[in-house]
Amino acid sequence: MIDFFSDTKTRPTAAMRAAIAAAEVGDEQKFEDPTTNRLVERVADLLGKDAAVFLPSGTMCNEIAVNVLCRPGDAVICEESCHLVNFEAGAPAALSGVVMKAVAGTRGRFTADQMRQAVWPASRYAPKTRLVAVEQTANLAGGAVWPVDQLDAVAAAAQQAGLATHMDGARLFNAAVATGLPVGRLAAGFDSVWVDFSKGLGCPVGAVLAGGRGFIEEAWARKQGWGGALRQSGILAAACLYALDHHIDRLAEDHALAAEIADRLAAIDGIAQVVPPDTNIVFFDVAADGLPAPEIARRLQDEHGIQIGAFSERRIRVVTHLDVTVEDGRRLTDALGQVLKRG
Ligand SMILES: *Cc1c(COP(=O)(O)O)cnc(C)c1O
Repeated sequence: MIDFFSDTKTRPTAAMRAAIAAAEVGDEQKFEDPTTNRLVERVADLLGKDAAVFLPSGTMCNEIAVNVLCRPGDAVICEESCHLVNFEAGAPAALSGVVMKAVAGTRGRFTADQMRQAVWPASRYAPKTRLVAVEQTANLAGGAVWPVDQLDAVAAAAQQAGLATHMDGARLFNAAVATGLPVGRLAAGFDSVWVDFSKGLGCPVGAVLAGGRGFIEEAWARKQGWGGALRQSGILAAACLYALDHHIDRLAEDHALAAEIADRLAAIDGIAQVVPPDTNIVFFDVAADGLPAPEIARRLQDEHGIQIGAFSERRIRVVTHLDVTVEDGRRLTDALGQVLKRG
């Protein structure tokens, strides 16, 4: 099976497994796990924040950040395609009682002006706008990168309006590799930011949420209360440390492969539109008069042993990562060409 469904599908390499096996461990909740301690210090440093906390998932990072930064009844400004709105089972409402004010942006990004317009004027009738959340890179927009100037402008506008800022950095390292800017620079204007290790970095489990000292203390209380506090988490953190050393620069290969695949897709009959990838995610639309996307995905899997994601009747997602090769990319576009030709 060749798996282009998601960069979450990566499996730990032999070397990563060796790092896991060699991990020094202790009780994370007592700060006695030296490997987890090293990981959070290193990530806090990289992200330019005072402190950080290890969490089991990116979703928990988002939900804890919203919960710490908002009160029930508050509003969170975000972009309509974001993970917080679409893939977290309504948890901002269920866990934190917030209203998501989703802006219709461009490729997952909104401008400082759009942000200002989304703030409700202060009134006892309106929700209190409390937080602005951005997603770097924007997943459903095709791994789109927020330019640093736009991030800075939104963060400055938020600060001026007295709002807190949060960055969902599930693929922040992809953005850093694509722009050549350090992750800390990209996250500079944001009060809280997290990175996912179980996406393109190839780890089995883990995310790290960073921010100010007071914020992380509060985040720890939620981690404890929501059942995310761990014990010998060094087993997981060792994989993350390994990924920081070995799996970041190579993200450039994923981006190059995504660009190559996008170019070839654009030349296939029956593909109506390809969203040009900034990083490792390629979205494309199949023609309205051809096979529906779910059927194409099914045939690709059954007949060619290749997985892709059908996101609607017409839209397909392909994600490049550690476990797919340039040759796999060729097999993907050849197989798609065959499936679409036969119709
Ligand atoms: C995957 C993802 C998340 C959630 O991360 P998990 O580790 O799967 O919980 C959040 N935001 C974005 C943009 C993602 O792609």
